[in-house]
Amino acid sequence: MIDSLPETENTPMTFEEFDLAPELLTAIAAQGYHKPTPIQAQAIPAMLERVDVLAGAATGTGKTAAFVIPALQYLLDEPEHTVHPRVLILAPTRELAVQIHQGVRALAAHTQVRSAMITGGFNQGNQVKTLRQSTDILVATPGRLAKMMEEDQVNLSYIELLIIDEADRMLDMGQGPTVRTLLESIPGDFQAGLFSATLSGAGVRKFAEDILDEPVEIQIEAPNQHSSQIQQITYLANDLVHKNALLLNLLQDASCASAIVFCNKKERAIALTEYLQSQNISAQVLHGDFIQAVRLEKMHKFKTGKIKVMVATDVAARGLDMLNITHVINYDLPYRGDIYIHRIGRTGRAQQVGISINLVERHDLKALERIEYHLQQSIPVGKIAGLEANYTRKAAKEAQAKAQKKKPKKNAKKKK
Ligand code: AMP
Repeated sequence: MIDSLPETENTPMTFEEFDLAPELLTAIAAQGYHKPTPIQAQAIPAMLERVDVLAGAATGTGKTAAFVIPALQYLLDEPEHTVHPRVLILAPTRELAVQIHQGVRALAAHTQVRSAMITGGFNQGNQVKTLRQSTDILVATPGRLAKMMEEDQVNLSYIELLIIDEADRMLDMGQGPTVRTLLESIPGDFQAGLFSATLSGAGVRKFAEDILDEPVEIQIEAPNQHSSQIQQITYLANDLVHKNALLLNLLQDASCASAIVFCNKKERAIALTEYLQSQNISAQVLHGDFIQAVRLEKMHKFKTGKIKVMVATDVAARGLDMLNITHVINYDLPYRGDIYIHRIGRTGRAQQVGISINLVERHDLKALERIEYHLQQSIPVGKIAGLEANYTRKAAKEAQAKAQKKKPKKNAKKKK
């Protein structure tokens, strides 16, 4: 959940000010959203006015709810009896589509609105079946949707609202022509919203011009800014054993006075702490299950330098605000860019220089790319003498692309 976003003068204090349906307000409250984020404050009223919207907003700004809330309100205001989707949300990747679909389901929880998702990597037969059960909101990646359109399995002629999310990334991935072809299958007029982390590239501008009609333009300062005092670096690991060796080396370096090592799960944090202790590193674990008194005691020991390394989960690390943390190490990469920013913001405070390190295995490279997209910057890869990985990022990417091409189609067997 976002807890610190810049407010604008016209940021409404509450969601009630948008005149949303009670079932939507209930779902919004259940998500723990107390007041709209800046992108929501600006995009929701514009979209409710049924004008086109061009929004520069990155992940972490609350952009998903900014388009899902007005889409749901529209469907509640204008119910119609068709089995075909009326709202289409396009996303460049399967991961993002899954995330958006989860958002749709959570916010539609108290309504009759039905949603479906179409992306590669899932069984197409099941996706067709879900679609047949009638759908109001369809979340899709362009490639699989185009394929299903070709096979006449989706009808887009009832689309009244189109959202394109992460348009810049879509164009980077070469999905522009597929999206354009898809849009040609929508016969009538539709309202459109185009969201992109940046609006500065000529590609995005042209794309927006072709799709949108006199859009309202909204530019949100991304909360992806972090202190320039933080030096970020990635070390590639072959496997977990190699990763542990890298971690030990970094923690034993003279420059490392005080470090937080982040793990995504409690169990992993516990196991890693035990390992570090067995290697004579002064380490403690901090996860959400400790009672407050124990947490405070651990934090105190860490802050006063009695413990050098705190192995923590994200929830537990809240409140670890201190000036002298020299290293933040992502033993596990976080799932989202905004969490990454939160993590690395724990070092480099108050003019001090801090180092933030990612330990990355091959299978983490996609997550790393996503974080870099969120930051709009690439993170350099470093090497530690004697602990170099047996691959490079470039080679891993090429191998992955090759493997993807070779993969036999899942239902190829069924075809005659
Ligand atoms: P997004 O930019 O859509 O990926 O959202 C980033 C995070 O912000 C997600 O965890 C959302 O659940 C959360 N979020 C969205 N809207 C709000 C809000 N109004 N208040 C607090 N958190 C929010």
